[in-house]
Amino acid sequence: MEVIISDIQRMSSEDGPGLRVTAFFKGCSLRCEWCHNPECIAFHGELIWNENRCIRCGTCIGVCPNGCLAFDADTLKIDRAKCVACFRCEDACPGAALEGKGKAFTPEKLCRELVKDRAYFGTDGGVTLSGGEALMQPGSVEVLQCLKSRGIQTAVDTCGMVPAETLERALPFTDIVLYDIKVLDNGLHEKLTGCGNGTILENFDLVCRWAEKGGRLWVRTPLIPGATDSPGNIEKIGALIKSKGASVERWELCAFNNLCRDKYRRLNIPWKYRETSLLTESEAKRLAAAAEKTLACAQIRLTGATMKEGETNG
Ligand code: SF4
Ligand code: SF4
Repeated sequence: MEVIISDIQRMSSEDGPGLRVTAFFKGCSLRCEWCHNPECIAFHGELIWNENRCIRCGTCIGVCPNGCLAFDADTLKIDRAKCVACFRCEDACPGAALEGKGKAFTPEKLCRELVKDRAYFGTDGGVTLSGGEALMQPGSVEVLQCLKSRGIQTAVDTCGMVPAETLERALPFTDIVLYDIKVLDNGLHEKLTGCGNGTILENFDLVCRWAEKGGRLWVRTPLIPGATDSPGNIEKIGALIKSKGASVERWELCAFNNLCRDKYRRLNIPWKYRETSLLTESEAKRLAAAAEKTLACAQIRLTGATMKEGETNG
């Protein structure tokens, strides 16, 4: 079964241990208000126009079979309702100003692409399937299977809002699960992500049982200003992790970043956090201290950028 991929990121050091290649799958089961990968929210393909690279030649307008493209003054307008994501315009663009997000791969073809950098994986690197939500595409299991058959270390970065059957099929071919736990209050979770967290917590139990038998499990919590960044939320998540004994190897607190604001603009999607600043160093340290106090697991790490007190990052 084919999979739809938004991007392949090489030499990544943020999606699990060591140096990795990360495949970003299209489509997600949640709608987190702060999502850092807006190009991975929709399951269908999408076109992005980079105005800085565009030489305004009009070639793309001529090749589009559906008449989706037109200049409005200096700006290329994309009629997203009519676009069928054929990406002919991307292929024809002489300025590399158009980027198609959402290309189809067979699992075998994607696997071949992902293992090209295996020389850099070293002893603890490998491939991470991320997104979006990779496990919402059933073909992701075949990708994992293919990678394992080639001796590649595999990680799955999941929001947990996935069918338990898919998770159960994926785990035998997975070395590391990066499991997002964002908010423990069910009502707040629903408000912030569009879904309650019942399924996510049930699947977390399942993954913890897998980890008890030798799988590696990392929990990741995004620190989102005004949403997930209360010490109370961090304490509750810490207590949950601690209740799982030694199942969880590492807990990462991932500081909010706003680098994705341009991606939202290019996709014509409004973003609630557009003007939100990074956490300050002291705010992030306060949350890390709240996490440390829970003694949740052996490794608790703060990741991502913060700003110094008094700096502005609007
Ligand atoms: S992706 Fe295809 S349908 Fe969409 S704008 Fe480009 S050429 Fe037109
Ligand atoms: S083909 Fe590329 S460079 Fe030319 S107008 Fe379209 S987006 Fe711009």
